[in-house]
Amino acid sequence: MSAASVVELDSRAVDELATSFGGTLVRPNDPMYDDQRRIWNGSIDRRPALIACCAGVADVISAVRFAREHEQLVAVRSGRHSYPGLGVCDGGMVIDLGQMKGIRVDPEAHTASAQAGVLIGELDREAQAFGLAVPAGIVTHTGLAGLTLGGGIGWLERKHGLTIDQLLSVDVVTAAGEFVTASAEENAELFWGVRGGGGNFGIVTQFEFRLNPVGPTVVAGPIVWAMEDSPKLLRFYREWIKQVPDELTTIVTHRRVLPVPTIPKELHGKHVVVVGTCYAGPVDEAETVMKPLREFGSPLLDGCAPMSFVKHQSLLDPSFPHTWWYYIRSCNLAELTDDVIDIAVDHGLEIASPTTVFSIYQLGGAVARVGEDETAFGGRDAGHTMNVIGITTTSEGFEQEREWARGLWTSLQPHHQNVYVNFLMEEGEERIRQAYGAAKYDRLKALKRKYDRDNFFRLNQNIPPD
Ligand SMILES: Cc1cc2nc3c(=O)[nH]c(=O)nc-3n(C[C@H](O)[C@H](O)[C@H](O)COP(=O)(O)OP(=O)(O)OC[C@H]3O[C@@H](n4cnc5c(N)ncnc54)[C@H](O)[C@@H]3O)c2cc1C
Repeated sequence: MSAASVVELDSRAVDELATSFGGTLVRPNDPMYDDQRRIWNGSIDRRPALIACCAGVADVISAVRFAREHEQLVAVRSGRHSYPGLGVCDGGMVIDLGQMKGIRVDPEAHTASAQAGVLIGELDREAQAFGLAVPAGIVTHTGLAGLTLGGGIGWLERKHGLTIDQLLSVDVVTAAGEFVTASAEENAELFWGVRGGGGNFGIVTQFEFRLNPVGPTVVAGPIVWAMEDSPKLLRFYREWIKQVPDELTTIVTHRRVLPVPTIPKELHGKHVVVVGTCYAGPVDEAETVMKPLREFGSPLLDGCAPMSFVKHQSLLDPSFPHTWWYYIRSCNLAELTDDVIDIAVDHGLEIASPTTVFSIYQLGGAVARVGEDETAFGGRDAGHTMNVIGITTTSEGFEQEREWARGLWTSLQPHHQNVYVNFLMEEGEERIRQAYGAAKYDRLKALKRKYDRDNFFRLNQNIPPD
């Protein structure tokens, strides 16, 4: 919907809503408006008519009913990390759950409930106090809600599965403003759909997860080689990962070294390939498993060591801060063929921006052991997910990085398998269908017809009802 077709909001109606709203209603003339409309991706600059920062479920219900009654375009957000900025709109209303931060861990039952505004680092901290964890993403300030609803890949996935594979139940406010709970026993089709289908079916206010024993010490961290070594390294790596246990998850990143004090000065700006590692099993076992990788060639730096899982979770935070400019292209790959490796490294050596990266996540293990149709998430059989991210700190040079990212992604097109829905920009219906596969996409459409016939929740990786 264009800004021009958004129905103007009556300020008296907002005043009326404010009389019973527990959270904060932020309007364009409010001093906190600019802060509140800002999201993680600094290249997105939109101006909603109203931002409803909800304090609890009652606010979410009121906000949905209000938006419906006043025919407002609605964006829903929790952690504000949507790559294409789907959590904010021009005109219309943002329903923000970022203040809803409640977490309760039950160390006996190995379960945790988390409200929608929780960030993944916040849940890690609470769960790790008991040596437990929900597998989630690799940057602590990512929103748990959006990440979970798309699937959730990260350092623990091969041992324990996706974030959605731990879900026991969700509380949802539907497009009609009704409150429902979904689990394997109750509203089971909705429960199937929210495990990968994103924000299409309603606003999730709370998640209940199963917890897994993790650490609290893991052997983890980056091992770094010169990018010129990458063709040989990746040919070794693709054979080596065929034998490693599921405790180990790795992510290969090509980039220039960030000038941060924790890295020796002589490496700053250098083009490198990094194998990020996390061994979620006994520390002494990790030494043996990691040995062949650590001994390959001549690493410039070996930061793989025993450390707390919580510390490891924060290592990548400085690479993806709020407000930098980001352009992302992504695809899944079956394997790292010679052609894939050569294309990747050729483009890697052309990276101009000191902040641009592309990462290749290793999948398999527990992710692939759950049946493709058991949840809405698509692509469990993929070998790798690739995330190409052109990054600049401001608008300067952004166009060049965007073209570079498009170039790498396009060159790899013959090798694309499918795509992880949370790594999509606004790329159109065909790409969303690819993320799920045709059969699941049709099943999701049927669910959308049941829960959101009018496509009220359409600012998302949208599955239109018809
Ligand atoms: C720095 C960074 C690192 C990342 N790392 C990983 C990673 O390691 N693994 C991974 O799997 N993904 C990762 N992602 C992708 C991430 O999963 C998505 O960007 C996700 O959408 C972020 O969720 P959010 O709540 O922060 O985003 P928001 O922008 O708040 O929301 C994104 C979308 O999710 C939906 N949504 C959000 N909250 C709700 C809700 N409560 N109810 C219903 N729908 C809702 C809406 O459609 C919304 O448009 C990363 C993203 C970033 C920016």
